[in-house]
Amino acid sequence: MQEPTFSSALVLFAHPDDAEFMCGGTVAKWARDGCEVHYVVCTDGSAGSNEPGTRRELVAPIREREQRAAADVLGVKTVTFLGEIDGLLEVTPATRKKVTREVRRLRPEVLVAPDPGRLWSGEGYINHWDHKQAGLLALTAVMPDSPTRVMFQELESEGIEPYEIPNLWLPSDAPNVYVDITQTIDRKIEALAQHVSEEGEAAAPWVRERARQVGEEAGVEYAEAFKTFRFSDDDE
Ligand SMILES: [Zn+2]
Repeated sequence: MQEPTFSSALVLFAHPDDAEFMCGGTVAKWARDGCEVHYVVCTDGSAGSNEPGTRRELVAPIREREQRAAADVLGVKTVTFLGEIDGLLEVTPATRKKVTREVRRLRPEVLVAPDPGRLWSGEGYINHWDHKQAGLLALTAVMPDSPTRVMFQELESEGIEPYEIPNLWLPSDAPNVYVDITQTIDRKIEALAQHVSEEGEAAAPWVRERARQVGEEAGVEYAEAFKTFRFSDDDE
């Protein structure tokens, strides 16, 4: 199994903790190996509590703090919040422009995002609306938004030039690439534990078990799995 390596990565996702669940082991591995990993979080995470008396403005700062702590555990270089309202993420010209700004600014070699086609899995999980929107925003950034000069051309005045994203990775149950995270599964679990308000630590047993199952498919102890796309033709 030949694993591609990258010098820079952008992980685009909906909520604080999504990236850790999706690809925390891969992020930790890439960062350890010298890849500059950036996070862009679409929403404010303000729907993260269901306690009576909860209010969005109380929850959002807690979740931002927890996300920054988790990113630190994994070695993520920057975390940017786009500030959309948790639960109400939409693909609009405004959100597309926000994502395009970050992609063009950071110019990552690989964009990692949720699979927008995932509606559910198994018999006990319906995928969150925002996850699908975040995935669609990523695909829309790949084509046409980020590379097309006249899309959000006003960004030129900020000194931001169009950018062709060379690689897109979507966590997937039908993968073509496995990442061996045997060395970083503990980091992934430690990062999830930073999401105290979401009881991230309680997810550890099933997160580990899932990574073990994927690892079995890959022939390693623990793994994460991706459907990957490569758009540039400059094969070296
Ligand atoms: Zn989420």
